[in-house]
Amino acid sequence: MRSVSVFGATGSIGESTFDLLMRQGGAQAYRTVALTGGRNVARLAEQAKALKAEIAVIADETLLPDLKAALHGSGTVAAAGQNALMEAADRPADWIMSGIVGAAGLAPGFRALSHGGTLALANKESLVTAGPLLMAEARAHGARILPVDSEHSAVFQALVGEEMEAVEAITITASGGAFRDWPLERLATATVAEASTHPNWAMGQRITIDSASMFNKALEIIETHEFFGIEPERIEVLVHPESLVHALVGFRDGGVIGHLGAPDMRHAIGYALNWPERNHLPVSRLNLAKIGQLTFSAPDPARYPALRLAREVMAAGGLTGAAFNASKEAALDAFIDGRIGFTKMADVVEDVLERLSRDTGLGKSATSLDMVLDADRAARRMTVEVIKDMQRT
Ligand code: NAD
Ligand code: MG
Repeated sequence: MRSVSVFGATGSIGESTFDLLMRQGGAQAYRTVALTGGRNVARLAEQAKALKAEIAVIADETLLPDLKAALHGSGTVAAAGQNALMEAADRPADWIMSGIVGAAGLAPGFRALSHGGTLALANKESLVTAGPLLMAEARAHGARILPVDSEHSAVFQALVGEEMEAVEAITITASGGAFRDWPLERLATATVAEASTHPNWAMGQRITIDSASMFNKALEIIETHEFFGIEPERIEVLVHPESLVHALVGFRDGGVIGHLGAPDMRHAIGYALNWPERNHLPVSRLNLAKIGQLTFSAPDPARYPALRLAREVMAAGGLTGAAFNASKEAALDAFIDGRIGFTKMADVVEDVLERLSRDTGLGKSATSLDMVLDADRAARRMTVEVIKDMQRT
């Protein structure tokens, strides 16, 4: 019986993963080791009971009594807090979903890799903040990382049976997000509610807002570079409003292999869950005759400054990715709390990277997770400062 753990089980990726596990036989087919959630005790307990999980961990420590009560008599151990999350990651499993949002997902995924097994990586922040360390950790322990981001799963599938030397370019697509068709002048006054709707995908709020700003695509360019080891100059972004073509791989003989499918994360999650086999998945099928046409355009640099920042981050290398991601997370917090406007997020992140690279130099490579976490904390502090300075002037 295959053993599985799901980190971030109560989120958007986590719920889709849970749905697939239940459809593929649930507790009869899988031994569920650990499920974790942030704050949603009721839902985590429901999932843990349904899958007969060995341990359920809630990140918010104050919620432990509630989780204990909800799991009373179920046979699932209730635990809470950061240490418990790491202990859950220390319980070996054959397949682990890394579905926590943000840099908070890095340490548990990293720890899980040290036990071998397969890490299904939705948490792109792990690769942006600590790509080389994460890939080395997987190699050192004979663990495998399978990409779950839809674009990266698409590239991975297009590369089956191919050699990386034959790849000329990788193109990942972007829907353009909530504000694709807005006049540029209006972006500065976009509200949180407006930014939290996605034209095609149903996802967590943070990644949905990051899709509107294309900070999500910025992270994904870096993710492509780190995971596939391809130079930044050969990674392209294409705006594709229909979100049906997820990625294109161009080869040196001029051939291009693209991956199409409905915008439903259960495809990429299911591919990683069943790999190297393909199982029936409950995603809708494409009817291209009905769809009629697919459209593509180059991203507008004025609308999406985050894409330029991603290129600068890759050029600078080292700890810049960790600082970039952390500053982006802190700027997103500020936007959600109403402290800064939508377009200020990119201004703030750019300013933070400038100041940090002047003060401390971000170019040196991380040799430990602690170095990454230090750079992360420094960037969050600097982001708060930059926002305060901005509000003073
Ligand atoms: P979400 O906000 O819906 O869920 C995040 C999960 O992490 C929840 O279980 C939440 O409780 C938990 N969590 C949040 N903060 C935590 C913390 N500090 N410590 C421990 N747990 C915490 O997010 P999501 O949309 O499911 O995204 C999860 C990851 O997958 C992100 O890295 C995102 O970029 C990536 N991803 C998501 C989608 C999607 O369709 N949702 C697509 C591609 C990639
Ligand atoms: Mg994606």
